[in-house]
Amino acid sequence: MQENVPHAGRGEAGGETIPHWHDPEGEAMTIVEGEDATVYDDEGAAYLDFVSQLYCTNAGHSNEAITDAMTAQMERIPYVSSAKGNDVRDALAADLAEIAPGSLSEVYFSISGSEANESAAQIARTVQDAPKVLTRWQSYHGGTAGAGALTGDPSTRSTVGRYAATTGSGKFLPPLPTAFDADSPADLAKQAADHVEFVIRNEGADSVAAIMMEPVGGSSGGYPAPPGYFDRLRAICDEYDVLLIADEVITGFGRCGDWFGIDTEDVEPDMITFAKGVTSAYAPLAGVIADDWIGEAVREEGYDLGQTFAGHPVACAAGRAAIEEYESHLIDDVRELAPVLESRLTELADAHDAVETVRGRGFLWSVVFADPETGEPFVHPWAADADEAEENPVAAVREAAAEKGVLFGSGRPDVQILISPPLCTTREEIERGIAALDEAIEETFE
Ligand code: PLP
Repeated sequence: MQENVPHAGRGEAGGETIPHWHDPEGEAMTIVEGEDATVYDDEGAAYLDFVSQLYCTNAGHSNEAITDAMTAQMERIPYVSSAKGNDVRDALAADLAEIAPGSLSEVYFSISGSEANESAAQIARTVQDAPKVLTRWQSYHGGTAGAGALTGDPSTRSTVGRYAATTGSGKFLPPLPTAFDADSPADLAKQAADHVEFVIRNEGADSVAAIMMEPVGGSSGGYPAPPGYFDRLRAICDEYDVLLIADEVITGFGRCGDWFGIDTEDVEPDMITFAKGVTSAYAPLAGVIADDWIGEAVREEGYDLGQTFAGHPVACAAGRAAIEEYESHLIDDVRELAPVLESRLTELADAHDAVETVRGRGFLWSVVFADPETGEPFVHPWAADADEAEENPVAAVREAAAEKGVLFGSGRPDVQILISPPLCTTREEIERGIAALDEAIEETFE
């Protein structure tokens, strides 16, 4: 038996979990406890969790309002068939319809973000009678066969694509400065949206059911779109009868300073997919919120989307309690403290030649690195191969920060550090977390 293999959970008395993926944050540690924005490892060391584990523990760790609601539901009835009615499930669906923008009110529960995206793609294909769902290059939409095909990150896609058919999933470029030769944000918005229109026309508009994207890029680099981009996309979708799906798996539930990331763009999508933060990751739960007309059309088709654990009552109880926490103060707290995070990060960019830029929204930011000598990125923007990142010092910055007791996230390609603290993170913790990052950058580059 192998000793000391880093993995998600070590069993006791010789029982070992086979590691099925690498730790994207690169630190092999065993986390055993947590409270608010802090987690503790098995040796009692404390870490500020500036990545909310996997961008998901939005209400922080060990929130009693959520754990109490889950316990109460466990005691009432832990599981009810997803083919039957259940009061907590219905109540959560009503809560979600209430917070979702415009006429999005039909909720289809599933279990993971990957499955929610697969459901949204299937719903789009069904109601549009068209096979293709187009997504962004370097995006992440999940690792199951269907969601992996939607994913634009080459490493994930190659794992899925090696043995599985990846159908109906063309790609377009993200609205990033590295993707276009634009001379202003407005020019970038125009060029990036024109490019989406070109791809839709090139694929054949009749064959495209939907385009799917994150309102603010998540693991592909914490980037908001330039102003005007989403307005143009909405108009293009309407012109070509293509649905707009917002993947809110990371950006939902207060992460960007509003209920959903797309709310910060003031654009109404046709569907939203959610997971992670809906329960603050206290139990697996995900789903799709679709426009009313889509719900009608799905009912007419008689489309069956059932999964055994979809809308699990204990997870739904967690979701209701988490939403109450977001509503009562956490989203307001993000609005109040996001400018503090932004100004600390701007100072960080000014202080270090190795920091090319900082970008983000609300409590989702990235610090993008480039070689301080040449100004070139450490990994080619179109890197499709992990080997290209071999000499990349960005991982060393993350490790140095972890040694100082702060955990950060990694993006794809690995040229940035992602910052996604729990929404309950205090002003003092923001100061402490960014100060640790500042020192880690100094040590790595100077
Ligand atoms: N969509 C986005 C934007 C994600 O970041 C992720 C996971 O990180 C997923 C979908 C897949 O969600 P899950 O890991 O719950 O399947």
